[in-house]
Amino acid sequence: MNKAEIAIVGAGMSGLVAACTLQRMGFRPRVYEKSAALGEVGAGLTLAPNATHALQFAGLTDALAMHGMSPGRAGVRHWRTGKLMISLERGDQLLEQFGARYYQIHRADLHAALAAKVLANDSAAIHLDCEFTAMRQDGSRVEAQFANGERVTADVLIGADGVRSGVRAALFGQDQPRFTGYIAFRGLVPCDALPTGIIEPPSCLSTGPDRSFTRYLIRGGRVVNYVALAQRDGWQEEGWSIPATVDEVLREYHGWYDDVATIVRATPVGSLFKWAVCDRATLPAWTQGRVTLMGDAAHAMLPFLGSGAAIAIEDAVILARCLECSESIDAALQRYFLARHERTAWVAQKSREAARNYHSGRSEHYQRDKHITAESLGIWAYNPATVSI
Ligand SMILES: Cc1cc2nc3c(=O)[nH]c(=O)nc-3n(C[C@H](O)[C@H](O)[C@H](O)COP(=O)(O)OP(=O)(O)OC[C@H]3O[C@@H](n4cnc5c(N)ncnc54)[C@H](O)[C@@H]3O)c2cc1C
Repeated sequence: MNKAEIAIVGAGMSGLVAACTLQRMGFRPRVYEKSAALGEVGAGLTLAPNATHALQFAGLTDALAMHGMSPGRAGVRHWRTGKLMISLERGDQLLEQFGARYYQIHRADLHAALAAKVLANDSAAIHLDCEFTAMRQDGSRVEAQFANGERVTADVLIGADGVRSGVRAALFGQDQPRFTGYIAFRGLVPCDALPTGIIEPPSCLSTGPDRSFTRYLIRGGRVVNYVALAQRDGWQEEGWSIPATVDEVLREYHGWYDDVATIVRATPVGSLFKWAVCDRATLPAWTQGRVTLMGDAAHAMLPFLGSGAAIAIEDAVILARCLECSESIDAALQRYFLARHERTAWVAQKSREAARNYHSGRSEHYQRDKHITAESLGIWAYNPATVSI
């Protein structure tokens, strides 16, 4: 099957991981990205062992060691007192338990490493300024059309074009992403702008009524990434990177322990953004003929378990493995859906439960055995490089 022509729409996390993995298997995938330049938003990303296994399988071991931070310890703090209620191991013990590290990384660093890998393998693999608009297929080939007038044909088309996927709309009709009632404020703060000792433990979730505040270190410990999740009744603004103000975040976190405000106040101008957290209705199928979906296009989920990108990256590796080992495209796409549908629906459901748990403000949340994490749910025990498919 490694002569099959594979077109991937979207050079985001899952699209590039799929491209790298397929290249390692001997395929020559083509990636079509709507942006005119490659890049990612300025924000951090958690890569738990399940994602690390997938990225190592895709050939990113050195890049992870170079750009990823392994925080050693993480914790949960009380929103009002700041008291450390739960302490969690995130260092060598996890490596021993799961066979892969837990990393925190700047999204742009991971994305640049992925793009460099894909282009080093095949300098013609990524096509920019190609916004997917439509497609048609017969029994053996699929043709994709792009806003720039370009048309390409392939044996398989993979929609890796995120939460507002055009490929999904072309397959199953226009269903809009649903605003989940959560908005995310995202900030990057240089550590030298903060008082010593404030970033302890190095990775920390603070939770309280209707809000949570997660912060961790990236870029060799020089930068603090934070994601502040609050609840809203409605949302008018479109886009992933709407500038936000320090005052706006401080208003949301009035009454919280002082460190939260100290970190938010230190955010440099131009380093604070907000966006609406959206998910999608669960699809009963991801594939029609020669076209399938992966990542947020198939199953966007709430960010509370820090698993959306990890699950998208898992999809990419499993889909590549299915294409490598199946006797036909039909068999590969069927095998892929069977391997992924239940797991992705389950993680999406658990992410919704985690949201309610973190924002409940109830005291039992701070008991270790009641605190929901991707680790305690067993999400990290999945190894996409070796799991049976
Ligand atoms: C606040 C917040 C925090 C998060 N934190 C984490 C975390 O810590 N860990 C984690 O695992 N996940 C996290 N996530 C989730 C994660 O960011 C996403 O699940 C992940 O990026 C999805 O990857 P993807 O490849 O499906 O889509 P994306 O990474 O969104 O990539 C889609 C790509 O497709 C392109 N595209 C879109 N439309 C078209 C088109 N018509 N034609 C061509 N190209 C197109 C886009 O430009 C983009 O490059 C978080 C999400 C949020 C909201």
